[in-house]
Amino acid sequence: MTSRVICGLSANEILEFITPAGSTLSHALHITTSIYKKRIDDFSGMAGIPKKLREFLEMFAVTGITPPVASQVSSDGTVKYLFRTESNKEFETVYIPDGKRNTVCVSTQSGCRMGCPFCVTARYGFAGNLSAGEIVNQVIGIPFADKVTHIVFMGMGEPMDNLENVLKSCEILTSEWGLSISPRNITVSTVGITPGIVRFLESSSCNLTVSLHSPFSEERKLIIPAEKKYPVQEVVSILRNFPLRKHRRVSLAYVMIEGLNDTDLHLRALRDLITGSQIRVNLLPYHKVPEDKHTSSSAERMQYFKHNLVISGISASVRKSRGEDISAACGLLATGLKINEQT
Ligand code: SF4
Repeated sequence: MTSRVICGLSANEILEFITPAGSTLSHALHITTSIYKKRIDDFSGMAGIPKKLREFLEMFAVTGITPPVASQVSSDGTVKYLFRTESNKEFETVYIPDGKRNTVCVSTQSGCRMGCPFCVTARYGFAGNLSAGEIVNQVIGIPFADKVTHIVFMGMGEPMDNLENVLKSCEILTSEWGLSISPRNITVSTVGITPGIVRFLESSSCNLTVSLHSPFSEERKLIIPAEKKYPVQEVVSILRNFPLRKHRRVSLAYVMIEGLNDTDLHLRALRDLITGSQIRVNLLPYHKVPEDKHTSSSAERMQYFKHNLVISGISASVRKSRGEDISAACGLLATGLKINEQT
């Protein structure tokens, strides 16, 4: 008989599981607090639960809190972790400390099916979806778990291609019985799968970022193949028209590649696409992937884009690069197999 994995279950699901042991909702909440808030990885360490329930859990369940199998530290303090599931799926997680703001970048799949040519993960192939518990464990299973303030779903995989598990993990991360992280501090990123975007906006309060990278459909198809099925105009129309609650953010990520998508023509089209909406723009440097001849736009060019967007009434920012020396930067994940497992 396989053991039930508790990490990844809601308070109600835990209650349903432990009811045969004569346990109640308060016991279920004690378990969620022990796992999600206190990160206790062994039932024997959970003080305050009845002996009968502890024996039941030890016999029929595992906590599901598992540490990474390897790690690598960047010169800027960013740490990349490699996780491996029992079924041998591998995926990476990145911890990015930045003053009082400490972000974990989680993966949602082992590999990815979207085939974006500028992304190393695409070259890794696809080994499967991660469960809600495997996503949450990337936050509570790392050594810096108690310092985490923000979470971004920008690691390996396309979140909308594993939406049920992404929504469930967001519920666990934000619920009072879960990690109690504000949805304002959680951002899910997508290449723009429209049915998933609609469902996500309606079912979650977390922020959303869509990878744009070009305002021109024909050009975007070469960078993001999903554009063929889900044109960006349609995606932006959904973002424009969705009534946003206060403090909820929707944004476009725009990786700037010299000579490819950083011309004045691109700037004008980007501005026209979103002007008059609440959509923000995050401008990011391009991280060279192996065997690619392109380079990032200069810092001056990125500031020029930002300035022109801002004076047009669009909220825009330039994001700095983190963890590039350990391939932990955006678009570079999936090199984890090279992490030395002794580190
Ligand atoms: S950029 Fe994102 S969606 Fe595209 S292949 Fe990489 S991980 Fe997948």
